Amino acid sequence: MKNKAFKNLIYSLSISVISLTLFSFSNPVPIKNIPPVVDSGFKIRTIIVDAGHGDRPPQGGRYSPGAQGAYSFERNVTLAIAKKLQDELEKQFPDVKIVMTRNDNYDVLWGKRAEIANSNHGDLFISIHCNALPDRKVREVTGHKHHKPVYRTVSVADRSGKGVLLLVYSTNRIGPQNEALRENEEVGDDNKVITSTENKADDPMAAILLNQMKNKYRKQSIHMADLINTEFTQTDGRPSDGVREQVVFVLDHTAMPSVLVETGYINNHEEEDYLNSEKGQNEIAGSIVRAVQRYKDEVEESGK
Ligand SMILES: [Zn+2]
Repeated sequence: MKNKAFKNLIYSLSISVISLTLFSFSNPVPIKNIPPVVDSGFKIRTIIVDAGHGDRPPQGGRYSPGAQGAYSFERNVTLAIAKKLQDELEKQFPDVKIVMTRNDNYDVLWGKRAEIANSNHGDLFISIHCNALPDRKVREVTGHKHHKPVYRTVSVADRSGKGVLLLVYSTNRIGPQNEALRENEEVGDDNKVITSTENKADDPMAAILLNQMKNKYRKQSIHMADLINTEFTQTDGRPSDGVREQVVFVLDHTAMPSVLVETGYINNHEEEDYLNSEKGQNEIAGSIVRAVQRYKDEVEESGK
């Protein structure tokens, strides 16, 4: 991401936050001037839909392949769900602009995704991913030597993961990263893994301002994640690990309420079938749209 452009964006957004705050403390409007319906003016105008991961671009370079199941890849499932989500959102909210961070199979780097979200002035960022548990290391006996067992360590796929998980921005940069780590990974041409968790700006002032903004959006992000989680569990009957705060690069760098949706475990056979099915993808998109509807009604009413 271009640092200067990003800093400028942070400064201008901060000024609008400050001016809004000042405005809300200005002198009360004389009663006779209050219209019968108070229109706070806040409207959700732009929603960013982010299909996680992607193929290596034709020109080469870094990309983030994501997880894989027995027959499908996370990067293809996320694009299929994101496209359904885009269609449904456009149908449901014709006045809202839906911006996709990628439309084809090729990956867009995490930093670029955040830049697309910020430069389009998104009011909500929804990132679509699939989960996968890492392989378990187990020791197995391969034979005996001098009446003693001989062991070797092997990797065994852990297919026990089930259900959804919602991730939101975390301020806690220290501590176990666990599941979120893969969502920060990119691999270079040499297939070495690079993890993007570095802080957003070299300029401490810009970093402070972005942090302030992220804190402002923290509650809204958690609320949005809660609404999506409720739809998944109560309407679709999906198991859930709930809402978790974690350091995820794209959530960390988007100046708007942001939620990362782990739609299911692609390395669990049953879940992989669900994630690849029309029924599953439609259910997931439908649940997110209903959650957006509730969120939109609430924030537009309260003028947050
Ligand atoms: Zn992912």
